[in-house]
Amino acid sequence: MPNLFVDGKWTAGSGGTADVLNPFDASVVETVDQAGPDDVEAAVAAARAAFDDPRGWRAAPVAERAGVLRRIADLLQRDKEHIARVETLDTGKTLVESRIDIDDVTAVFRYYADLAATQEGRTVDIGVPHVLSRIAHEPVGVCVLITPWNYPLLQLSWKLAPALAAGCTCVIKPSEVTPLTSVLLVRLAEEAGVPPGVVNILLGTGPSVGAPLAEHGGVDMVSFTGGLATGQAIIRASAATVKRVAVELGGKNPNIVFADAVDGVGFETVVDNALTAVFLHSGQVCSAGARLIVEESVADAVVAEIAARADAIRIGNGLDPASQTGPLVSEAHRAKIEDFVASA
Ligand code: NAD
Repeated sequence: MPNLFVDGKWTAGSGGTADVLNPFDASVVETVDQAGPDDVEAAVAAARAAFDDPRGWRAAPVAERAGVLRRIADLLQRDKEHIARVETLDTGKTLVESRIDIDDVTAVFRYYADLAATQEGRTVDIGVPHVLSRIAHEPVGVCVLITPWNYPLLQLSWKLAPALAAGCTCVIKPSEVTPLTSVLLVRLAEEAGVPPGVVNILLGTGPSVGAPLAEHGGVDMVSFTGGLATGQAIIRASAATVKRVAVELGGKNPNIVFADAVDGVGFETVVDNALTAVFLHSGQVCSAGARLIVEESVADAVVAEIAARADAIRIGNGLDPASQTGPLVSEAHRAKIEDFVASA
């Protein structure tokens, strides 16, 4: 079954194929199709036509769009075990974490379905006789959704669900490292009744697919989550055609421990929370508590306990219930982290 979805049809595209690797043992999980320049053109044209259709998705009653989002949520729950397994094979995270992700994604689709249904617009008395203002929510247009590899499905849901709820049409470009569950989500969107052209997905690298999408004149908005340098490149690329851009970039988050917290919630809870904050998904979380600032009077005890427990974390295959955390996402990423450790 081909992996690209353009204008309501699954297609192999013209960019060849690429192997998706299991982070645990670098085995090939799946060989997927890659988009070429003509696929980029076709996907944007399909999303553009679907958006510009005056009787299309944007004109559908909000209740209808919300209904499609709810069906996607139900289908996610129906296929939860399968999708969670694929997310683990693709990202390396444990099955427990993948299952939590699928529940989160389900909640996101339900949340935006509810929000759309209650936010159709409202009237406001602006204090001028015989004049009422009506606040209407308009869709932005064709949205390009570019996602990173750490939370592939969850990151996509935060972009796709609100875009669909609002009546936008989309071209999805998932990370080339972890594209598999994004493809599964598009299959569910198709099954849920999203019309042709409204959701399209292209697989490929940033330079070959992400960059031409960010530059494309037929695109109204780019929503991007990923690294700082890529975000800067996307903002530059989108400037030529003055697109709307939403970027969520890298972070370094301080986690502060005061002595009275240790007295209050207890030493165990403080250490548990600090460990989870930094080591969830092997630390590959943009909001990971990567810097720990501890009040001096409790610093030695907290740091010693965290170090001891960190040494004892069982790293292993995400599919193995005995693993407490999975491997890093790729060899390249591990090399980057080892570099940081060495320079530190
Ligand atoms: P990345 O920036 O390398 O890639 C992210 C996405 O952008 C991928 O789909 C990639 O193919 C695409 N891309 C790359 N170059 C592009 C270009 N020139 N034009 C358009 N698209 C391009 O990031 P990554 O390594 O996949 O993800 C890790 C980074 O993401 C980390 O810095 C992490 O902190 C950050 N992140 C941030 C958040 C957040 O919410 N702020 C969430 C998750 C991850």
